[in-house]
Amino acid sequence: MKTQSIRGMRDILPVEQKYWQFCQDQFIHIANRSGFRRLDLPLVENIDLFKRGIGASTDIVEKEMFVIKSNDGSEDDMALRPELTAGCVRAYIENGFRTKPQPVNFYLLGTAYRRERPQKNRYREFRQLDLEIIGSEAPEYDAQIIEISRRYLESLGFNNLVIDLNSIGCNHCRPNYRAKLIKHLTSFKNDLCADCQRRLEHNPLRVLDCKNPSCQKAVDNAPKSVDHLCNACSDHFQSVQNQLKLFAVDYAINPKLVRGLDYYNRTVFEIGLKGDSSRQSSLGGGGRFDYLAKLIGDKEIPAVGVALGLDRIINGLIENEIIVPENPTVQLSLISINGCEKETMTIYNDLILNGIYSRFLAQQLSLSNQLNLAAKAGSALALIVGPDEVINEKYILKDLLSGDQQTLSFDDLLLKLANAKIV
Ligand code: AMP
Repeated sequence: MKTQSIRGMRDILPVEQKYWQFCQDQFIHIANRSGFRRLDLPLVENIDLFKRGIGASTDIVEKEMFVIKSNDGSEDDMALRPELTAGCVRAYIENGFRTKPQPVNFYLLGTAYRRERPQKNRYREFRQLDLEIIGSEAPEYDAQIIEISRRYLESLGFNNLVIDLNSIGCNHCRPNYRAKLIKHLTSFKNDLCADCQRRLEHNPLRVLDCKNPSCQKAVDNAPKSVDHLCNACSDHFQSVQNQLKLFAVDYAINPKLVRGLDYYNRTVFEIGLKGDSSRQSSLGGGGRFDYLAKLIGDKEIPAVGVALGLDRIINGLIENEIIVPENPTVQLSLISINGCEKETMTIYNDLILNGIYSRFLAQQLSLSNQLNLAAKAGSALALIVGPDEVINEKYILKDLLSGDQQTLSFDDLLLKLANAKIV
């Protein structure tokens, strides 16, 4: 057996955790303060949820799902969730949120799985942060989702965000636009890559955001969805932009932006970093998904949301050398000498109960070896516990940098550590 993780899936090691903790804490804080409530979903759902919700002819469903079949074929196929929005709408319907005051605001944090070709910023297991507002078609909510996403990313330290915005219309106006687009793209059919030739029939809008240079010629002069919106969609889009202006959100209309999931209508947007135009670097994206509930078997429920990619956000923080708060580190190592492990373990426990970040090196090595190990482990201080210390109930606190030491009772030790702002 190879002791190796699955391709495209990775361990997040203790040294990286400060980024994860900071980004997740900040997200939870902002989401809670903005009136969103946390929703956790299963990792696995019935495969039909994704086929119907995301769309059978999308890359995600066609090529990228991790499918789970039951051993004896007695159950329907399941899949590891490739994103969180379809599951969120399923949960909204199943748990009777429709009868609650609308809209319902959820936030979600969790892993998603796509069998993509692994490369930088593209993993097979990655983490998303979602905000979803379900039960309203008001355009102000579209703007609010974009504004909170921006506020969140800026709160992490990004000051070079770019927001792309587009409207892809509704079931009323899109068929007309789609027909015009197909007509235009067909005249360039031979220039299109193999994927786009296939998309031309089932998913022509996706041709617009193909990064293949051979498709650019066809795409550059293609008709724009914003020029083919019905009155209702046009008004909606205008109101989204008015609200964004009130929020002082900078954005650019990008007529090629369509997003890779079928459930979107009207507003779509993506957030990235300036000077970084590759699709692998978009920090997040979202839009309106008024038809998703109907696609998965219920009636229409208007909704809007965003999915932010936590892995890419963290790569972005590291690349932009943004400093995040350090996690508390262990400051005090306990060292037991001459067979006092049991007593030291009790003191260790009491220190933890008193909120002191400490660790116990139960190594049965010489004192100097243990002191060396404590320094290597990053401790500033060591507490030495031997038979004399146990009898006298006074312990030796040693400063590992200066070598200074003093003998203290447990209470004095707590006082000293608290005063020294060790924790
Ligand atoms: P999507 O669900 O495709 O709209 O993606 C939303 C966000 O999730 C993207 O902007 C990325 O930040 C992130 N994301 C999507 N796919 C991946 C992946 N394979 N690896 C890492 N992050 C991803």
